[in-house]
Amino acid sequence: MQNKIIHKKAAFNVKEMFDLRSAYLNKFIDVKIKKILNRLTSSLKISKIYDETKSKLWGDVKFHIDNRIHLNNKATFKEIYTFGSMFSLTKQHTEHLRKIILDGCTNNHRERTYYDLSILPLNIVLGKNVIDYFIPPSDYFDFKSTNQEDPYGIISGKSRSYGFKSKPTAIKYAGSNLLLGANKFTHTLLFNVDFHCPIGCSDCYKARIGTREYFTGSNKQYSIQELGEVIIPKKSTVIEQAKQTVAWLNEDKRGNNVYDIIISGGEPLMFSNELIEQLLSVFKKAKYLKILRICTGTIFLGLPFRIDTQLMEILRSFSDETGVRITIQAHIGNSNMISPESIIAIQKIKKAGFNIYAQIPIKNNINFFLEDPKKTIAELSLLLQKLVIADVEPYMFIVDMHPSTNEYYVPIEPLLQVWGDLIESHDYPGIERPRTLSVLFEQGNVVLSGNTLFAMEKKVNKTEQSVTYKIPRVGSTGYWKNSIKEYFEYTEPLILGLNDDPHSLFMKKVF
Ligand code: SF4
Repeated sequence: MQNKIIHKKAAFNVKEMFDLRSAYLNKFIDVKIKKILNRLTSSLKISKIYDETKSKLWGDVKFHIDNRIHLNNKATFKEIYTFGSMFSLTKQHTEHLRKIILDGCTNNHRERTYYDLSILPLNIVLGKNVIDYFIPPSDYFDFKSTNQEDPYGIISGKSRSYGFKSKPTAIKYAGSNLLLGANKFTHTLLFNVDFHCPIGCSDCYKARIGTREYFTGSNKQYSIQELGEVIIPKKSTVIEQAKQTVAWLNEDKRGNNVYDIIISGGEPLMFSNELIEQLLSVFKKAKYLKILRICTGTIFLGLPFRIDTQLMEILRSFSDETGVRITIQAHIGNSNMISPESIIAIQKIKKAGFNIYAQIPIKNNINFFLEDPKKTIAELSLLLQKLVIADVEPYMFIVDMHPSTNEYYVPIEPLLQVWGDLIESHDYPGIERPRTLSVLFEQGNVVLSGNTLFAMEKKVNKTEQSVTYKIPRVGSTGYWKNSIKEYFEYTEPLILGLNDDPHSLFMKKVF
C-alpha cells in the first residue's frame, strides 16, 4: 500500500500518513489515555516524532477529507483499477466497482444514482478489518425484493405517537413544505439536518434516501399522501428547520408531547461549530425539551478529530443553560475501529460531561461471521469489552434491516441465537451488555430477545426471495392477563441454509 492515495488534492502516501499520525499521537496521548490503551491491549508503537506541523495536519478534519480515497462518477477507469489492485480486490469485484461508480443504477424514482466511494485516511491506516467496511460487496445495487427506499419510514411511514397513530411520521408545520423530522414515537423527534456525509460506510443506512455526495445540492422533493409536497432539509435550511421545529414543539398538540430530539443526518457534525451554536440557540426556546441526542459516525469511523474543545464548550454551555441532557450516539462497526484517536475524542467528550452510547449495526464479515459462531462471539464480546474500557456505553445492536447488499446481512434467527449466548447467558458482566437488540423499521421499532425465537411465526417466499416473520409484542390490556398487544411483520432477504427452512421455528418449539 505504498501508492499515492487516490484523490485530486491528495499529496501524501500511506507511509507519510503513518508519520503524521505518530506526531499527532505523541502530542495527545497523556498518562490517562496511555492507561486506557494499555487495557485495550493496543499493540500500537509510536515513534518519538515531535513535529507540530505534522501533528496539526493529522488533527485537522479538512486534511482527512481532502486526503481520503474518493472515487465518484468523475473517476477514471485507471483510478478504479489502481484502487482494486491496492486493496487486492478480485478482477470481478473491481469490475463491479467500476460499474456502480461510473454507470450507476436507476432507483425507484427513476433517477440514476452512482456509488460514491470514500475511505478516510485513518480508516486506511487501521487496516483491512476497518477498510472492508468501506468497500461495497459485489451485489451492491442488485435488485432485491426486500430493498426499500425509506426503510425506517421517516418520510413515508405512519406514526405510533399517542393520539396521532397512523398519521404521517413526517412533520411539516405552518404551511411550509420543509420536512422538520420524523415523529414515529410519542416523545421523540428524529431531526435529520442534512443528508450529506463524507464518511462512506459502504452499506450506509441512509443512502437510499439520499446520504452521500450523490444527492448533495439537489432539492429533493417527495409527495406524501395527507401531507402533500415535502422538501428534504439540508445545511442551508437548518436554521429555518430548527425555528419551525421549535414552533411545532411549543404550539402543536402533537409537538407538545416531544421532549427527546435526535439530531441526525447524514453527518450532523459536518456542520461548523458556529452553525451548531446557532442551531442550539434556536433550541433554547423549546419549552419542553429534556434530551438532545447527537448521532454521529465521526468518533469511530474516521473523523474523531472533529471532536474539538470549542464544540464541547458549545454543547456544555447549552446543557448548563437549559438543563437539557445531551448524549452522543456513536455508530461503530467492529472492535478494530476503537483507535487511539477515538480514545482521545472520547476523553474530550467525557471531560465535558457527556455520555457516549454505541450503536452497532450487525453485519456479516464485519462483526458477525455466519461461517463461524465462535469467531462471532469472540469479536462481539471483544467489541463490547473494549467499549466499556474506552468509557462508552454498549447501547444497541441493530438488525441490518435494509441491506444494500445481502453479503452483509445477518438473518435474525442466527442473530437471536448469538444474543442468547452472548447477552442472556450472563457469561459477560452486565455492564458489557447492550440494552437492546432492535429492528428499526417502518412499522415501528421491535425489541427482540432470545425468547422471540419461540414466539414468532415465519413464512418463506421463494419467488420473492424473502422471509417474513410475524413477531408478537406483549402488553397490558388494563388488567393482569397475559396478552399480545400487537404483531409486527418484518421481512428479510432469503439466505440459503440460514433462514430458508419454513419449519425452523416450529422445530425450536418442540422441547
Ligand atoms: S456515518 Fe452514517 S450517514 Fe455517514 S456513511 Fe456511515 S452510515 Fe451513512
